[in-house]
Amino acid sequence: MQAGYRVGQFVLERPLGQGGMAEVWLGRHAHLGSLAAVKFLREQYLGNTEIVDRFLNEGRRQGSLDHPNIVKVFGFEVVEGRHFLVQQFVDGEALDVRLRRVGGLTMEQALPIAYGVLAALECAHSRQIVHRDVKPGNILIDRQGTPYLTDFGIVLAVDETRQTHVGMTLGTPAYMSPEQMARPFAVDQRADIYSFGCVLAEMLRGAAVPLAVQQVVARCMAQEAAQRYANCAQVRAALVAASAGGRKEKKRGALGMWVGGAVAVLGLAGVALWPRQPVMASFTVSPGSVVAGQAVELRWDVRDATEVEILGIGTQPAKGTLRVKPERSMVYSLTGRNRWKNVTGEVAVDVKVLAAAVVQKFEFSEPSVNEGGESTLRWEVTGATSVVINGTKVRPVGEFVNKYMVKSRYTLQATGEDGRVVEREAEVLVEPASAAPEIVSLRFKPARVAAGGRAELEWEVRGAKEVTLGGKPARMAGSVELTNVQRDTNADLVAIGAGGQRVSRRVTLEVVRERQAEPTRVRILSFASDAVMGSIGPYAKLHYEVTGATRLRIDPAVGNLTDLRGTVAVYPTRTTRYTLTAYGANGDSDTRTVEVRVIERATGRSWDVLHHNPGCRNGFCGGVLTARDGRLVFRSDKAGDGFDVAYSEVVEVMVNKQLFGNMNGFHIRTRTRNFNFAQREPADAVVREINREIGRY
Ligand code: ADP
Ligand code: MG
Repeated sequence: MQAGYRVGQFVLERPLGQGGMAEVWLGRHAHLGSLAAVKFLREQYLGNTEIVDRFLNEGRRQGSLDHPNIVKVFGFEVVEGRHFLVQQFVDGEALDVRLRRVGGLTMEQALPIAYGVLAALECAHSRQIVHRDVKPGNILIDRQGTPYLTDFGIVLAVDETRQTHVGMTLGTPAYMSPEQMARPFAVDQRADIYSFGCVLAEMLRGAAVPLAVQQVVARCMAQEAAQRYANCAQVRAALVAASAGGRKEKKRGALGMWVGGAVAVLGLAGVALWPRQPVMASFTVSPGSVVAGQAVELRWDVRDATEVEILGIGTQPAKGTLRVKPERSMVYSLTGRNRWKNVTGEVAVDVKVLAAAVVQKFEFSEPSVNEGGESTLRWEVTGATSVVINGTKVRPVGEFVNKYMVKSRYTLQATGEDGRVVEREAEVLVEPASAAPEIVSLRFKPARVAAGGRAELEWEVRGAKEVTLGGKPARMAGSVELTNVQRDTNADLVAIGAGGQRVSRRVTLEVVRERQAEPTRVRILSFASDAVMGSIGPYAKLHYEVTGATRLRIDPAVGNLTDLRGTVAVYPTRTTRYTLTAYGANGDSDTRTVEVRVIERATGRSWDVLHHNPGCRNGFCGGVLTARDGRLVFRSDKAGDGFDVAYSEVVEVMVNKQLFGNMNGFHIRTRTRNFNFAQREPADAVVREINREIGRY
């Protein structure tokens, strides 16, 4: 986050503080100018649904509490994948900051804060909500001195049951009751009373305090929940009485000895009255917070004990030190004994388990697109300290639209907290845009002229990248005039599509010598095929133009025709010569032939397939795929479509159900291109055969 960022309706001004889970910023409403505290989940928790849920729960529970000593929650929002809570801004400082600044408080300063916190807790407890993280960092004090309880991040509704999660510390050990350490999900309001006792003790550290107040603190912090006050109203009543009595009594002591630093010395709050009872003079762990595998030192001193027993470690002398390496957050329980009695104490160590990066998701929304299309790359990584996609640092959760499919392969590298790098790849198949061009028209007007006459050549092409007329570049459509024509003239038009497909046609302007001129004579002006077709699906088009005929036919297979100019489709299964014959009224005729070539079947292994080609009218071109002599060859019936690659060039042949839906699809990926196919039989059989043929399996 950064000052000036806009988050929902708020513009961030400055950071207010941060805790374990969140960053809190002062936000100003863009329209109203009002201030709010905007609390964000830290970036590393973005993909963690458990924590996001808890954050939402925090907003819900805290928002349901309407109390002058509880920070109000106004809203919960998600902007660009980040969750934030909008809260009442408390203009002041957190109690932990104040205590660090001023050292300790006097009774007069501490009591109003204590009563405010007790009132807030009473309100929460009346709604069956246990805060579980009462500590100075979660108590805010405004400029008027009003205390506010906040950070209901790990609240527990009493009827709620959840599982504990390894590696996650709930609550802050220094302020946590023994039962919360042992069973964080089975606590009641007395856990908050314990934590409140710790806070009160910390506020009064070093202050002169009546013994009665010390006793209130001690009872709040009793090891056994049953020995504490039952509710906050009782605590408040006891505190009122103790502080009033204390003023008359003038009996003083210091509370500082009761509370350790970062780690509470829990055993000390217990009351040891029996003369021969062992007394826990000290029991500490240092440091109180480590990374898994690091060593901590346990140090204890139990007076009047013959030996001590540390749970899970064993019997030790009454005074000693020990180094241990905890793998997770631990509560060490120590019991000191003598012949008569024993005393028990506990210390907690907060162990951070370094997470490994886990790539939850890294994929494209569309597995295959046409060139110029778009596909969205989505990713979600948890437990990572850094996530990099193709060399660019990104957030752990995000997406972006790859608009023009300039790059189809992306690599994600996530570095875990444990330092290990996890790598994943995502790829989208990009089909080259390849519309086959179409020659819409090509003709001379008129089709015949007398020698020395003039004619106009007209043409129109669609979907071509390049057009040539007589070998010279030409426009997509146009006309040119020919004058003084002396002999028969051919016009050759070639259209080349974006994918390289070539379509050509020829038309002839005929020159009629005066003496031969005979208007009714039969003449075939043009007869051409525009493609060579394969053995399945598609067809060849035969274009013809005739003058002076009364009857015409094409053989084989087509038969009689009625129009003098037109196009017919033929479906040859092998290479075939088609003959056009035109008959005139006075018995003369004209004949012309054209050959439609059909690709021959190879002698090796071959399959009839349809190639998915977006340029084709129905999306497919027919062809034959052959695997022979170390080469995989696809011959299509469409010019410009097809390939010829060595087996070693083939990266992968696999079934592709997605692209073709229920059709029998598969794709062949070579080092440079991808080809998608369909055919009649189930695709897995063909894929197996091809793979066997090219030696992949
Ligand atoms: P976390 O859940 O991370 O502990 P908190 O809600 O306790 O987050 O907030 C962390 C710190 O941010 C607080 O200690 C305080 O300094 C500051 N802060 C939190 N909420 C507010 C608020 N409403 N107004 C002013 N400061 C706040
Ligand atoms: Mg906090």
